[in-house]
Amino acid sequence: MPFAALGLSSPLANTAAELGYNEPTPVQVAAIPAVLRGADVWACAATGSGKTAAFVMPILDRLSAPRATAERTVRVLVLVPTRELAMQIASAVKRYGRALPLQLKTCVLIGGVSENPQMMALRGGADIVIATPGRLLDLLRKNALTLDHVQVLVLDEADRMLSLGFGDELADVRGLLPPVVQTLLFSATFPPKVKALAEELLRDPMRVHVGLDESPLLATLAQRAIETDVAKRTPLLVNLLRTLDWPQVLVFVASRYGADHVVEKLANARITAAALHGELSQGRRTDALADFKARRIQVLVATDVAARGIDIASLPVVVNYDLPRSPTDYLHRVGRTARAGELGLAVNLLTVENDAHFRLIEKRHQFVVQREQIAGFERTIHTPPAGDPHGGIKGKRPNKKDKARAAAAAATRK
Ligand code: AMP
Repeated sequence: MPFAALGLSSPLANTAAELGYNEPTPVQVAAIPAVLRGADVWACAATGSGKTAAFVMPILDRLSAPRATAERTVRVLVLVPTRELAMQIASAVKRYGRALPLQLKTCVLIGGVSENPQMMALRGGADIVIATPGRLLDLLRKNALTLDHVQVLVLDEADRMLSLGFGDELADVRGLLPPVVQTLLFSATFPPKVKALAEELLRDPMRVHVGLDESPLLATLAQRAIETDVAKRTPLLVNLLRTLDWPQVLVFVASRYGADHVVEKLANARITAAALHGELSQGRRTDALADFKARRIQVLVATDVAARGIDIASLPVVVNYDLPRSPTDYLHRVGRTARAGELGLAVNLLTVENDAHFRLIEKRHQFVVQREQIAGFERTIHTPPAGDPHGGIKGKRPNKKDKARAAAAAATRK
């Protein structure tokens, strides 16, 4: 089916063809006509299945009428959990909208960088604002923009945006929106906890749930589970990188400290690597991701800040050096590979401490990965340390931002 058959105007349909998109993906087939006719959409589709184009393309079409030049107003608001994802969606808007006759104005509002350029950019309003909630609220408090004229609200990685971590901020943003807004929720996962909130946000939505009924794992994803000891993980990783022909590897770790530590060890082994985590300056975060995407470095060692939404073309391998906290996060992490129908591999390093947690992830997603050991790096410790009932995983630990949000919420309740 051609893109034009979905009702998209020819500049957008032609751009899709120029980008090599031979036909729309299933989520695009279902969501694009619904967005075009103004319906609310609740889309749940696998990682890497083209969700960005599924909302960006029809939104661009709907914005093709010129904006009344009202000060500080915004027509479309896209909320995302990370700064990197905001920047990625902004470049998708540019890419998909490049042939449109009307130049649309997009502003990216994210923390970690100076507010001033963002405030200047908002002068005269914007067609599309792509924001992380914290900075958006800061700029709303400073009257740099108003949400009175928003017509479309998109929550990308919607289950994360609806989760407790963003709850108060999202409620504040909703309070500033007009009573009726076309609302679009997109994610690869919607855990039961957030479903009621999603229902509350949407009016008679078009439900698009594609490809996830049998298994939430991608058919093109291979998985490995290598048993080892905690202290052997870095030498094992170095060994895998040296012996296997992996041009590019995204390694997930549990903490900032872990990321810096692994990068240092890889550098000692003359493997090019950079860290990506929330404690770095935004400049360093952006550079690390750009260097990795451009293949200037072989390994990116990241916390879950890179787990959601980030699209790295043809990334062949994801390594879980530490396991993610939740089975949901597992899907997002491994979903950085095997995107858009390509082959991908997820490698899990299993120690006696996290064995039980991996079994839980397997059970939740109904898969089993055969255990293996690599000569020289075999597991020798077979009993978990005493007093560690969670198998080394500390459950849903609040991160620094979650704690700050909880403290702010407690302060306003007083
Ligand atoms: P997303 O899930 O939006 O991050 O998209 C994943 C990848 O699929 C991106 O690299 C897109 O460029 C690509 N993509 C999106 N739509 C299509 C399509 N219809 N055909 C081929 N590739 C696509």
